Amino acid sequence: MQTADVVIIGAGIVGSSIAWHLTEAGCRNVLLVERESHQGKGSTGKSMGGVRAQFATAVNIQMSLYSIPFYAAFQERLGLPSEYRAQGYLFVATRPSHLDYLRTNQALQKSLGLTQARMLTREEIVEIVPQLRSDDVLGGSFCPTDGFVDPDSVMVGFTTRACGHGTTLWRSTDVTGIKRQNGRISGVETPRGPVSTPTVVNASGPWAAQTAALAGIDLPVEPLRRMLVPTEPFDGVSHAIPMVVDMTNGFHFRPESLGFLLAWNDPEETVGYKDNFEPSFIEKVLLRAADRVPCFENLAVNPKRAWAGLYEMSPDHHAILGQAPEVPGFFCANGFSGHGAMHAPATGKIVSDLILTGATSVVNDVELLSPERFAKGALLHETAVL
Ligand SMILES: Cc1cc2nc3c(=O)[nH]c(=O)nc-3n(C[C@H](O)[C@H](O)[C@H](O)COP(=O)(O)OP(=O)(O)OC[C@H]3O[C@@H](n4cnc5c(N)ncnc54)[C@H](O)[C@@H]3O)c2cc1C
Repeated sequence: MQTADVVIIGAGIVGSSIAWHLTEAGCRNVLLVERESHQGKGSTGKSMGGVRAQFATAVNIQMSLYSIPFYAAFQERLGLPSEYRAQGYLFVATRPSHLDYLRTNQALQKSLGLTQARMLTREEIVEIVPQLRSDDVLGGSFCPTDGFVDPDSVMVGFTTRACGHGTTLWRSTDVTGIKRQNGRISGVETPRGPVSTPTVVNASGPWAAQTAALAGIDLPVEPLRRMLVPTEPFDGVSHAIPMVVDMTNGFHFRPESLGFLLAWNDPEETVGYKDNFEPSFIEKVLLRAADRVPCFENLAVNPKRAWAGLYEMSPDHHAILGQAPEVPGFFCANGFSGHGAMHAPATGKIVSDLILTGATSVVNDVELLSPERFAKGALLHETAVL
């Protein structure tokens, strides 16, 4: 029978980061299992690639404070690109309550060491994006170290380096069963045969609840469709601008290639494994685009290039990280609620630390993210969700 010190189920950006961090810490027998023939067919390949530290809770800010410098040093450290571009995130407020919210968040961000974030006046916002309609803009917040990465490149970088140092990647291999002995993890079942292991990590993205169910665990992670619309080449707005978030309605956009990538989270979307792109979404997003940036009414869109993917939603929009109390040896790395690409480095470090040492210093209180919080009713709501 095959054996592994750790079996990771799912080789997206999260599973590959965990594999790299484990091997970096000296673990030499890690098995990374992916059911698809290629990595990145889950949420990772559908992501907008935004990275930001402008969050509302300490634990999310701290995860970004590990992850963003990691992305900045990725090429130097791993010798492969993350495509990190520090173009910033600009939150545009149109109501006094938005400004209060941004100010409160920024005070917390600064207290945790995010010195670069700052509040902006309407005039300063218009200097950054002169084409923005600003008659109702009251101000906003900006952090220049926020920006974008290419999640596929990051996943490939982590996997390539992990595989050189003690990780084996099995593609086209579905984990079909998780075995327990005396209550704790003892192995997994796959079409290639059983694998004996004391430690399993659930890195199955939107399919996390199904993977947890194999171990008899009820994990509250649900798939929720998100759609993105890339535009044809457009140079009416600078390509050096940040990710711009219109807080009026959640419309956001960033430069992508020679055009722009448009996003809006439709509040009427319902939970389910729907990954088809709905063509009527184009009109909805373009309406909001032209409302905030009038020259965007000239944008051309090829519907065939638009796509949909799945967020993996947790009940409080925070990741679920740590060992499941009911099954020793089963670790969760799930429920990122739209932040899995930006928080993959911190997740890799935290989960690797917890497996190898039982503790981590990446965040002050990792217990806040533990799977136990749902049974205890100790939810921790994140409101800065896009
Ligand atoms: C449209 C969209 C935009 C987004 N934008 C952003 C953004 O701007 N910034 C950001 O940080 N995040 C963003 N996200 C979220 C981010 O993409 C995800 O949080 C992240 O990719 C999750 O990575 P993962 O590795 O956990 O999951 P995935 O990439 O889904 O990987 C999970 C893998 O597990 C495999 N798997 C599942 N079950 C099994 C099994 N039983 N056996 C073997 N393999 C299995 C799947 O095949 C899959 O490849 C976005 C997501 C979407 C859909």
